[in-house]
Amino acid sequence: MPGLDTSIDTLTETQRAASPSLWWDGLLRPDPEPPLETTITADYAIVGGGYTGLWTAYFLKRKQPNADVVLIEAQYIGYGASGRNGGWLMGTLEGLAAFADNKGTLPATARVQLNTLVSRAGQVLATEGINCDFHHGGCVMAAARNASQIARAHETLAHFQRLGFSEDDYRWLTPKALTARVQVANPGGAVFTPHVGRVQPAKLVTGLARVVKALGVRVFEHTRANNISPGHIDCDRGSVSANQIVIATEGYSEVGNPLHRRIIPVQTGMVVTEPLNDEQWSDIGFHDNETFADFTRAATYLQRTADQRLVIGARGNYLPGGRPQHALADTTLIAQYRQRIALDLFPQLRGVRFTHNWGGSVGVPRSWHPHVIYDPFSRIGTAGGYIGEGVGASFLFGETLAALLTGESSELSKMPWVQQRALAELRRWEPEPFPQLGLKATMLAFDAEEWLLNRYGESLPARAMGWLCDQLDPH
Ligand SMILES: Cc1cc2nc3c(=O)[nH]c(=O)nc-3n(C[C@H](O)[C@H](O)[C@H](O)COP(=O)(O)OP(=O)(O)OC[C@H]3O[C@@H](n4cnc5c(N)ncnc54)[C@H](O)[C@@H]3O)c2cc1C
Repeated sequence: MPGLDTSIDTLTETQRAASPSLWWDGLLRPDPEPPLETTITADYAIVGGGYTGLWTAYFLKRKQPNADVVLIEAQYIGYGASGRNGGWLMGTLEGLAAFADNKGTLPATARVQLNTLVSRAGQVLATEGINCDFHHGGCVMAAARNASQIARAHETLAHFQRLGFSEDDYRWLTPKALTARVQVANPGGAVFTPHVGRVQPAKLVTGLARVVKALGVRVFEHTRANNISPGHIDCDRGSVSANQIVIATEGYSEVGNPLHRRIIPVQTGMVVTEPLNDEQWSDIGFHDNETFADFTRAATYLQRTADQRLVIGARGNYLPGGRPQHALADTTLIAQYRQRIALDLFPQLRGVRFTHNWGGSVGVPRSWHPHVIYDPFSRIGTAGGYIGEGVGASFLFGETLAALLTGESSELSKMPWVQQRALAELRRWEPEPFPQLGLKATMLAFDAEEWLLNRYGESLPARAMGWLCDQLDPH
């Protein structure tokens, strides 16, 4: 926007703090916004200062520059998953098959939205001067650690083809082509997609917050919404009356929030190496800063950062009672497991120092696919249930929510992930401890299968355990 100066130099006072998370360690942060301490009114009130809340605020102001938009955040901007994630900005959604038509194909309009998402987000970041190390290098999903991953890789490719994606969107890389990109141990081939970009998550969330504030959005930090009802939000020391409300609290929706037990938090986390030198990078690849995963069932996600480190995210757990992870540092043994995965995939890293380890919560809906919901009667909307794939999706869903709230006639409102109904109709999870037991049993089965495969290869016990994992795997 002409005349909009959001560069870091304009900050009057800044904070730099050491952090267990690489993303926040030493990052310049603006002064905190004051908490809400009075009763105010607004056209639109947004609860939650992560990507979903901020992109919704951004698109609302772009559509209606004079609208009065208020955003309240219980802690600080980027406190939730948006400041903690692996930085894969993906042009896809988890659980896509749920949005297919009765022939099993994703509507062409939906495919276009997803296939253009990364470049559209990249354009907005460039136009708004949000420097978050964005790089559109695609993603390599490799069959690497055992032979069964090759079958899973082929099945994944077939899945995208059935949905209607083309060879330009998802294509096979032979082991040789895989090695030309990433020198992983045991290359068995890979699926490559151009529809993923890399970002530095905390730079994205703080940069986006600077932009929305400059557009006139009033942001209140350290302001928790205690009660949300149609047209009204009660906070500790103030309240907001608004024509329309958006709940953007995702995996951090706790007791008292209408999304509590409708979106449950599952933890995941990351470790990161010290900066690697050119020689080390020439040994492991990532020459186009592509993101990387292998076909383990427990999910791995890696990126090469702008400051030349390798970030390795993997594996989840579940806190008793279904609580979200507030602490940034991940003190569990899983952090060590993530280092082991890194060394399994890249033995070249042996001897390299790991400098940070942190984690957070992803939001999981009972349906196992994300949603944009808008209830025209209560005038409350929400978006989320991303299951760990919300960095790109929140851009699309924020724009969609803004179209729904402003009543704009838009193709976005007709996407299969959009539902016009009451939030209360979003299915609740079973009471505890059933979700916890289910997740633990699933993770144990995944571990057992991997152990059997690594030890005995494609043996009968490994296949039997694979069958059990297929039954437990929600996808
Ligand atoms: C370790 C990790 C790695 C991940 N990696 C990736 C990845 O590589 N790619 C990808 O696409 N996705 C990834 N994800 C998921 C992604 O980060 C999320 O899907 C996305 O950030 C969700 O954004 P959000 O704004 O909806 O929610 P959040 O960023 O979680 O924001 C919700 C906010 O709401 C606030 N809040 C909660 N309750 C209240 C209240 N009552 N009042 C006021 N504020 C409240 C919270 O404090 C929080 O700041 C990862 C997540 C984690 C934890």
